[in-house]
Amino acid sequence: MNSADIKTVKSILSQPQKIAIIPHRNPDGDAMGSCLALYGFLKATGHTVQVVAPNDYPKFLKWMPWNDTVINFERENPKAKEAINEASVIFTLDFNDLSRVGQMEAVLQEAEADFIMIDHHQQPSDYAKVTYSDVSMSSTCEMVYNFINFLGETELIDADMATNLYTGIMTDTGSFKYRSTSSKTHRVVAELIDKGADNMKIHQKVFDTNSPSRLHLLGVALGNMVILPEYRTAYITLSQDELDQYDFKKGDTEGFVNYGLTLEGIIFALIFIENREEGIIKISLRSVGDFSVNEFARAHFNGGGHTNAAGGRSEVSMEETISKFNEILKTYKSKLNP
Ligand code: 5GP
Ligand code: MN
Repeated sequence: MNSADIKTVKSILSQPQKIAIIPHRNPDGDAMGSCLALYGFLKATGHTVQVVAPNDYPKFLKWMPWNDTVINFERENPKAKEAINEASVIFTLDFNDLSRVGQMEAVLQEAEADFIMIDHHQQPSDYAKVTYSDVSMSSTCEMVYNFINFLGETELIDADMATNLYTGIMTDTGSFKYRSTSSKTHRVVAELIDKGADNMKIHQKVFDTNSPSRLHLLGVALGNMVILPEYRTAYITLSQDELDQYDFKKGDTEGFVNYGLTLEGIIFALIFIENREEGIIKISLRSVGDFSVNEFARAHFNGGGHTNAAGGRSEVSMEETISKFNEILKTYKSKLNP
C-alpha cells in the first residue's frame, strides 16, 4: 500500500465506522482467515463490524475464532443485505472482481460505502477507494498482517487474530511450500506463533478431521485420474453420482487436485467436478513453474486466479468438457512439453 492509501485508510478508520467484510464465494481458509482476523482487529479498534460470506464454507474452517459471528448471504439474506446497505465501509478480501461473490454482486454494486480491497489475485478490478493488491503475496492473510502493520498497530494482534491469520497463510501456501512463500511470509508466521497461534493444533483442525467417506471419495478420484505424459498433465474427474455415493460435503474435494502434481514430471494438474444443482463442471487448475493456469482458465474456462492455482467452470456436460479440454491441450503442447 502506498503512503497516500495508508493516509486515506487511517483517516477513514479514525472515526467509528459501520463495517462489512466480504470474502469471495466458496470461501477458503485464506478468505475466512483474513476476514475474521480483520474482524477482530476492527472490533478492537472501536468499529461495528460484520463479516458476510456469500455462501457456506467447509466444516474444517468452522472452528476458527469468531466463526459464529459470520452471516451467510444465501441463508440469512435480509440480515446480510441490511449489514451491507448500512455499512459505511466495505472491505472485500481475497478476490479481485465483484463477480467473485455470485448473487451478492448486485447488492455490493448498489452499496454506497467506501470500498477497501485487500487481495493477491492477478488483474484486480478498479472498484475500490483503496486497492491494496499485491500478486507476489502468499496470501491475503499475510497482506492483512501487513495492513495492520502499515497502520502501526501490530501490538493489537491477539491470539485469536493470529490464529485466523496463521490458518489462511498455511492453507494458501500449501503448508508453506508454494513459490509465493517468502522469507517475509515466514517472519510473519513466526510473529503469529509468538502472538499465540498454536501451529500444531491449527494444522490438525484443518487437515486431520477427515470423515471415512471423504477418504473413500479420494480413492475414487485417484482411480479416475488420467495421466498424459506427453503434455506433462494429469486430470481427475468426479461425477455428481460419485459425489453422492460418498456423501459429499462442501470442502471434501479440497486438495484432491494437488495429487496430480505429486507425479514425477507432471507440471499441470486439474480436477473437473460435476455440480448438477448449478448445472456446471467446476474446474480447479494447478501448475508448477511458469505455465500460467490463470491464463489458461481465463482463456478457456471463464475463470482465473494465480499463475500456479486457478479455477474455472464449464457449462456443458462432463464428457463434452473433457473432449473440449483434450482439444485445447493439443494447442499447448509446445508450452507444456517443449
Ligand atoms: P480453487 O481451485 O481452489 O477453487 O481456486 C484456486 C484459485 O483460483 C483461488 O485463488 C481462487 O480464488 C481462484 N479461482 C477459483 N475459481 C475461480 C473463478 O471461477 N474465477 C476466478 N477469476 N478465479 C477463481
Ligand atoms: Mn487467497
